[in-house]
Amino acid sequence: MSEKRYQVPAAISEGVGYTIVENASLEGRNTFRVPARADLLIDVRRPEALAELFGYAALKTRPLLVLGEGSNILFTRDWPGVVLSIAALGITVVEEGSHNVRVRVGAGENWNNFVHWSLARGYSGLENLVLIPGTIGAAPIQNIGAYGVEVREFITSVEAWDRDSSRLTTLSNADCRFGYRDSVFKHQRDRFIITAVDFELPKWRPLQMDYAGVREELAALGMDSPTPSGVAEAIARIRTRKLPNPALIGNAGSFFKNPMVEASKVSELRKRYPQLPAWEAGEGQFKLSAAWMIESCGFKGLKQEHAAVSEQHALVLVNLGQATGSQIWALAEHVRDGVQERFEVLLEPEPLVL
Ligand SMILES: Cc1cc2nc3c(=O)[nH]c(=O)nc-3n(C[C@H](O)[C@H](O)[C@H](O)COP(=O)(O)OP(=O)(O)OC[C@H]3O[C@@H](n4cnc5c(N)ncnc54)[C@H](O)[C@@H]3O)c2cc1C
Repeated sequence: MSEKRYQVPAAISEGVGYTIVENASLEGRNTFRVPARADLLIDVRRPEALAELFGYAALKTRPLLVLGEGSNILFTRDWPGVVLSIAALGITVVEEGSHNVRVRVGAGENWNNFVHWSLARGYSGLENLVLIPGTIGAAPIQNIGAYGVEVREFITSVEAWDRDSSRLTTLSNADCRFGYRDSVFKHQRDRFIITAVDFELPKWRPLQMDYAGVREELAALGMDSPTPSGVAEAIARIRTRKLPNPALIGNAGSFFKNPMVEASKVSELRKRYPQLPAWEAGEGQFKLSAAWMIESCGFKGLKQEHAAVSEQHALVLVNLGQATGSQIWALAEHVRDGVQERFEVLLEPEPLVL
């Protein structure tokens, strides 16, 4: 990390709908809470301001990173360019039908607040995605998912600034090419800046309660006929027990994706590891449990410098307080290499590693 991080910001300037800070600290803007700085940090409150901002040479020529709440990013160094944060707010009901509702949400809104907003109004669908940190604008990027549900099921379209055409554009659900922790935005990172997301939420749909532990938690809560809010409460309780809270200990949730392999690989591995969990994921592919593999390598709780594999969950890497991004990445590489040596399966990081 460069010496610049010890300097005070050189200047703060305001435009209509945006604020620019030079030499800005990003330490409070990533949930790993590792130190990093950006040459320029721009908070954009009005998407219309993007037209003016992209007219400036600094934005045309310097590396650009779009940052939400930093809950899926690992900074291993300072960012030598511009960090753009879309702070556009607002939740607007566009159309209300008898069976569903269409809602437009600004990219800067907090995801979990939107889940609670929808449940409080009797709309369902998002209950399994409760307590996922981050912004609305980031939700389509990796097609956030939890407890058997993915956000792509509810997104009708995404509004984004298209740097290729220099205008705001609308991508349909199909244009987004959603996959497991994947979308077109991950593959065209420098092109789209998401400014708003449109959702269609049903007023009723069957509850998804088959994921491990959900029915047991509902029973413990005494909920015989659960509502969507009841399912959200049960899942929030499980998540709070299982995952370290980033407000208390820096982390970015699951650090590795569950790897996809062919059926033949599952059979081969199960000869050596009969307990190996694997789920059918369609098109002849099987999803393996990265957490199980990490744990069986003995890495759960492992400490290395100021970074550790969480004692609560083997898939989560944590900052013990003073870790740099490079220390966390060094631990991630150690875990990845150990799993590859034992299982011949390559784990891929889920967060963006910079
Ligand atoms: C404790 C914990 C639990 C988590 N649990 C889950 C989970 O259950 N399921 C899950 O899917 N994820 C989970 N995550 C990961 C994370 O919450 C999500 O990926 C979330 O969507 C990231 O939002 P963010 O605003 O923090 O994005 P950031 O981390 O700031 O950015 C993530 C990516 O999105 C891009 N991006 C952000 N905003 C925009 C925008 N407006 N336009 C274009 N690109 C943008 C960034 O460039 C980056 O590539 C968890 C994280 C933590 C810390």
